[in-house]
Amino acid sequence: MNDPIEAREIGGNENLFNLRASSVGLFLKCPRALKDKPNMPIRQTSEFAETGTRIHAAMQNYITKGIVPEFDRDEDIYLFRRGRYIWDNQLLPYFPTPDVEISLKTVVDNKIDLTGHADVIQIGTDFVAIIDWKTGYVERDYSGQMLAYALLASRYYKKPKAIVSIAYLRSGHLETKEYVESDLAEFELKLIEQVVFGNNYTVGDHCGFCPMNLECPARREMIKSSVSDISNLTIDIEGLIKKGILDDVFSASKMLKRSIKIFEDALKEYVLSNDSALETDKANYTIDNRERKGIIPTVATPTLKNHFTQSEIMSMVKIDKKAMEQAIMSHAERGEKTLAKLSLIAELQDAGAIETKPYVQLTRKEK
Ligand code: SF4
Repeated sequence: MNDPIEAREIGGNENLFNLRASSVGLFLKCPRALKDKPNMPIRQTSEFAETGTRIHAAMQNYITKGIVPEFDRDEDIYLFRRGRYIWDNQLLPYFPTPDVEISLKTVVDNKIDLTGHADVIQIGTDFVAIIDWKTGYVERDYSGQMLAYALLASRYYKKPKAIVSIAYLRSGHLETKEYVESDLAEFELKLIEQVVFGNNYTVGDHCGFCPMNLECPARREMIKSSVSDISNLTIDIEGLIKKGILDDVFSASKMLKRSIKIFEDALKEYVLSNDSALETDKANYTIDNRERKGIIPTVATPTLKNHFTQSEIMSMVKIDKKAMEQAIMSHAERGEKTLAKLSLIAELQDAGAIETKPYVQLTRKEK
């Protein structure tokens, strides 16, 4: 166990702006999201939250007591295996005396009460390292949350450097960033600026995680104008270009797509919280628990060998390029990671193992 440091528990002042590490990303994009609904956690479905809780508890038991749990659900078995693999092969050497499930807290400039929860922590001589397990489907931009963990842990344990790792258990991808004092000081300034001056609404993809998203006036206005933009037009691309409104219509269509997803997620969450059933005059809504089966190549190979040749098996396996690059970088020394990745890609290229398949993608870049 790492030594506890007394008198770290500062804060608790109700005049401070309360901010959780998990909400920092949203707060940096749109401060009104948390100013209008303080203390509301960011949105996620309860189904994901329950899976996350089970996997976090399992990883905690594995790290501290070496216990391998027996799960009933395939999804849990898969996520735990991923977590265990990442821990054993990539993280364990850097966490010789880990602490788990640690609540962190610090006060920023007497204005913000910043709190967070680290899944795993290692205290070093001049650094603190943190791991956060992610069990969701989407790999979002967690840079704000990573900085918040770094700031919390660095201030809490009084260390000048923080190393934060996010382990995405669905893809097996590990993202690690190192922060020094100047990064943390700059981040503190950004947070203070948002608390003191940030009063604008900023509508975007992040609205999907906002506790305000069903009632936000800015979003509502944007949806209204998107609906009217789209419902009043005939699909004549050349005509839209001539009128100079193609960009607006494209943005409106994106906005509507996001709004429909937010509505469907909210309805799903409501039905779930209503014992998974809802009846209206016209229909019954139910939430059915379904599972998608995934085959774990390393575990399946001995069984598959009884039925297929080696080349048949290889034709069924898809190598995740991102996971492969992360793995080769995790084996390389610091400062040589990018070179190791590029060398492996070059080796694969020379071996004819990289094929290029054309695909079509619509891209839009602001001028
Ligand atoms: S819904 Fe979007 S624009 Fe409205 S407060 Fe939330 S993040 Fe900001």
